[in-house]
Amino acid sequence: MAFTTRPHITESFDDLFSWLEDEHLLSDHQRYNLDEEQRNSDLPFDIPKIIAKGQHKQAIKRKTRAEKNAIKQRQPNPNEVSGDKLSAAQKDPQSAVREISWEAIPADALAFYRSFHSSPKDEWGIYLLADEILRYHDYLFHCSRHHLLWEYDTLLHLMIFEIFNHEFFHHLVESTATYLEISAAAFGKPYPIYGDYKHRQHIKGIDHPHHPLEEALANAYAYNALSFISRTKAGFKTATIKTYQEVIKKHWPNHPKGYCEAGHYINGKHVQGGAALLEQILGLEGAANSIPLATLSKHVMPNGYSALFAKPDIPTYLTGSRFAIEMIEDIVPALNETYTQLFWPKDTSSIDSQIEQQTLKNHLKNMRL
Ligand SMILES: [Zn+2]
Repeated sequence: MAFTTRPHITESFDDLFSWLEDEHLLSDHQRYNLDEEQRNSDLPFDIPKIIAKGQHKQAIKRKTRAEKNAIKQRQPNPNEVSGDKLSAAQKDPQSAVREISWEAIPADALAFYRSFHSSPKDEWGIYLLADEILRYHDYLFHCSRHHLLWEYDTLLHLMIFEIFNHEFFHHLVESTATYLEISAAAFGKPYPIYGDYKHRQHIKGIDHPHHPLEEALANAYAYNALSFISRTKAGFKTATIKTYQEVIKKHWPNHPKGYCEAGHYINGKHVQGGAALLEQILGLEGAANSIPLATLSKHVMPNGYSALFAKPDIPTYLTGSRFAIEMIEDIVPALNETYTQLFWPKDTSSIDSQIEQQTLKNHLKNMRL
């Protein structure tokens, strides 16, 4: 038989999903919109939350350039934050947030990732829980408003970026497991790698000091994604992000098991964490010591470029009461752009130049000393 020029199975998600189905690599269970009495039933893996009856589900769509411009126009300039505070915070974010203290809630209490290995496939994606997010946002704003670092709407933008990116890491893990399932099948050994890994993660437990490691890495991924966004010059965005990162890092120790270990996987250490996670996905304890899984982790998966669906394209929903959904859409008018690029619905140029001048002044002062 000759090698194929054009494979019958294409790269489309539909083809992938049918293949996973044919190979019995999916987990069947009831749909999300379950009746009240079914809600407490034991379901297979990876179904952390169920959308209760009467809750709304709103798909989040990308905005056009014209819509984004219109959003920027209608928002006033930031006026509740202090330019002086922000420029000081940019220099020393740790001191700026020293007095901020709050009860920390992990991202998975505010959102969840529904895997596509759990059919039906039209329900997979990221679900942001509107009521829970709003309640937590109110509380965080109350705890931090006197520090004049984040405005009411800015804080919600930061939270949504962080929560989404945490959940997106779960998609990276599922994508990784799927590529390994394809590879295993290519060697004649189709195997439910994702299902098996989730079963070990949730039911049997995995012997790792940071178990569940996936949660530590998901927290770290969200933190690292913020660093990536703030790598540009001094200004409102950088100062805002740096202080927010400091405050989330400070509160990680109060998170549940696994989640609280995120600090081990920031500043480039996520590569080693990814190698350890690959061991767990493959079910090969200690394998990263004899097989260069760290090379896979750095260059192939799970990293930000290996997702089956890129951030703007992954199906994402706001769910909850109509009131909460509308309120979030009002405060964060470009949701997709916010969780992918931290789009600000405001013109920050005047505060940017204020911070820039202050930074320059500090720099000159240090030179004179
Ligand atoms: Zn999580």
